[in-house]
Amino acid sequence: MLNRGVLVLNKSWIAINIASVRRALSLLYQGLAKVVHVEDNYKTYDFDSWRDMSEAASSEVVRTVHFQIRVPEVIVLTLYGGLPRREVVLSRKNIFERDHNTCQYCGKKHSREDLTIDHVVPRSRGGKNEWENLVLACYRCNARKQNRFPSEAGLKLIRMPQKPKWVPHIGIQLSQIKRVNWQKFVNTAYWETELKE
Ligand SMILES: [Zn+2]
Repeated sequence: MLNRGVLVLNKSWIAINIASVRRALSLLYQGLAKVVHVEDNYKTYDFDSWRDMSEAASSEVVRTVHFQIRVPEVIVLTLYGGLPRREVVLSRKNIFERDHNTCQYCGKKHSREDLTIDHVVPRSRGGKNEWENLVLACYRCNARKQNRFPSEAGLKLIRMPQKPKWVPHIGIQLSQIKRVNWQKFVNTAYWETELKE
């Protein structure tokens, strides 16, 4: 139980980490974090109030000699507002953001549903999943391009795709999101999923 994961939010309620229960309870005890009670309207509890409300809990508790405390699922840090430093993850969402929902061949803006991610150098010709080889394309341009180089299809990129320099806001990966109550904080999982090489 003590090694289970607890979702950690920074003080702006952005998911930044997953900590062990042991670590979460220690942060709570030191007053550096509060428990977020997701099922109870996201009410927050400090150590004493969480311990008091844990008295009635029958499951998912950690017992000490003097009291029992319910294992939190989510905690929010009271002071820390930073974000984890990470590389920009190669994900669908980040490609959409970099290309501003704009087809990189015809230059028109589209809604997300009308865009697809195109391999500039087709996979069948050795093109990889990398920033420099992935661009947004509308279905029309994509259908025209097929599995060819842009030049072969008479298409031209409006700009050369590059790795973006901005920092993403969520440092949690889909594989780490195991609980329903966590998804409320990381519900963009689909868009954040890392595209594997
Ligand atoms: Zn297009």
